[in-house]
Amino acid sequence: MHMGTLVTITVVAWSEADAQAAATAGFAEIHRLEELLSTWIPRSELSRVNSSAGRMPVHVSPETLTVVQRAMQVAEMTDRGFNIAIGPAVEAWNVTEGQRMPTEGELDALRPLVDLQAVQVDARAQTIFLKKAGMRIDVGGIGKGYAADRAVEALRAAGAVSGVVALSGDIKTFGRLPDGKMFPVGIQHPREEGSVLVWIDLLDEAISTAGDYERYFERDGVRYHHILDPRTLQPARSCQSVTVIAREGVWADGLDTGIFVMGPERGMELIEQLPDIEAIIVDAEGRLLVSSGLKRRIRLPEKLCRDRPCQEGGTVSWRPSDPVGNSSES
Ligand code: ADP
Ligand code: MG
Repeated sequence: MHMGTLVTITVVAWSEADAQAAATAGFAEIHRLEELLSTWIPRSELSRVNSSAGRMPVHVSPETLTVVQRAMQVAEMTDRGFNIAIGPAVEAWNVTEGQRMPTEGELDALRPLVDLQAVQVDARAQTIFLKKAGMRIDVGGIGKGYAADRAVEALRAAGAVSGVVALSGDIKTFGRLPDGKMFPVGIQHPREEGSVLVWIDLLDEAISTAGDYERYFERDGVRYHHILDPRTLQPARSCQSVTVIAREGVWADGLDTGIFVMGPERGMELIEQLPDIEAIIVDAEGRLLVSSGLKRRIRLPEKLCRDRPCQEGGTVSWRPSDPVGNSSES
């Protein structure tokens, strides 16, 4: 367990001892980053940034600076759907443990703190300053992807030939399987536990999924989950899951959360503009949207493939839970 999640490392190397040594180096790197970035660890760099909010800038390591800089870039790309200043609101909801619903009044009081303008990153001085007292930044939406990138670097440096680092849904692969095949990854169906929505083979790529189905509670038939819309401070409503594939995990992880907030239409528009970045989105109605660069790469589970060819062009769009007969295509 690292960064609040189960971490799995798979290594291909020339000997079992080499493979073990590489895996150990990968875990050590993730642990090191957790010590910098976790807001659950009181002495971590980010915790110090948070506890100095409104008082003073905090000097941080290049790693912490990089994650926060990437987060600011993702915020820009996603029309501020991604917002690491969301911390106080995440805490107010505490979806994982408390299952309590904050009142509109409580959320209104927090709103001024969810302000990216007040996050000051000084790259030259290598400091981060939160200008308002009570602000808190939270890299839960991007840090695991970054950690996967860095762990892969550690694996390579330790002599691994190929491998996979997975922090639950944040996965980075490098190289190929010993038989020359690419690493196959299944994307979880957001409404059918344990069933795979689509398969995709990865080569030197990262994949990351943000969904409303792992950490949530239900009240009066409404699902409350852990990805918040920074505008309303309520759980974002327009997607069930967003999967992003990119060269680097930091982009895949940041963008899945940001696009989850943006919604399927604007999210897919953004993806189509970004070279080397692809996405699979399940919208609020359960329709599947696949970006143009993935159309020929995804494999459907057997039951969906039966009546329809999987290799055709056009944006694939249908309800994965329905039988294939009801499908439509645009
Ligand atoms: P996970 O793999 O943990 O589900 P996600 O990439 O789906 O991670 O991001 C969810 C986490 O991101 C939340 O637990 C919270 O800490 C943080 N978060 C929630 N809403 C936002 C948002 N709009 N922008 C940035 N981070 C967010
Ligand atoms: Mg994310």
